Amino acid sequence: MASLNKIAAEINKCKKCSLHEDRTNAVPGEGDPKADLLFIGEGPGKKEDELGRPFIGPAGKLLEELLGTIDLTRKDVFIANVVKCRPPGNRDPLPEEVEACWPYLQQQVNAINPKLIVLLGRHSLDRFLPNMKISTTRGKPMRREVENLGRYVFYPIYHPAAALHNPNNRQPLMEDFQRIPTVLKEVAKLPEKDAAEAEIEDDVDEPEEKQARLEL
Ligand code: SF4
Repeated sequence: MASLNKIAAEINKCKKCSLHEDRTNAVPGEGDPKADLLFIGEGPGKKEDELGRPFIGPAGKLLEELLGTIDLTRKDVFIANVVKCRPPGNRDPLPEEVEACWPYLQQQVNAINPKLIVLLGRHSLDRFLPNMKISTTRGKPMRREVENLGRYVFYPIYHPAAALHNPNNRQPLMEDFQRIPTVLKEVAKLPEKDAAEAEIEDDVDEPEEKQARLEL
C-alpha cells in the first residue's frame, strides 16, 4: 500500500485533469496518518491553493472550532478533499475531474484506514454514496461497501462553508459534530461482519429507508 507521502508526491506533480493548469499548489491533505477520523471536503479554495494546505480559510477556521468542541485539533484527524487542485473561481468540480482524482483519494482512505469517514457536504457525499441528499442523510452514520475502496462507516454532515453561507445550517452542523465521539464509540463495537451487510447491498434504491434501518 502506498504511503501518504508517496501519494502526496504523485498528487503534487499530477496533470491528469485540467485543474492542474491553474493551480498554484496541489493540496493533497494533511493530518495524522493513522487517524480514526478522516474528513473529506470538496476541493481547495483560494487560500488552500496558495499554501498547499486543506481547510485553512474561513471554512477551515470553523472546522477547527468544531473540532475543538469535541476536544480534538486538526493534528488528531486527517483532512482531505475530493479534488486536490482548486477549481477556477471556486466552481463545483466537474464529474470528470472528480473521477480523475478519485484514485488518490481511494489510496489515501486505504492507507489511513479510518474508523469513520466524515463526508463534508454534497460533493463528498456524492462521490462515496451517490444519489443521496445531504439534507436527509446528514447526521446519519452508514456502513457501506464502496466499489474499489472497501467497507467503511460514513458520516455525512454539512460542509462548514454551507454553515457560513447559510446561518440555518450552523446548528445542524454543530449538533452532528457533537455526535462524532458517540458514533466513533458505536463504530468500535461493530463486528467485522454483521447482519446489516445484506441490507446494505440490497436496498441501494431506497436510500431513506436504508438510512433509518442502518443508523448506528
Ligand atoms: S485535481 Fe486531481 S487529477 Fe486533477 S490535476 Fe489535480 S491531482 Fe491531478
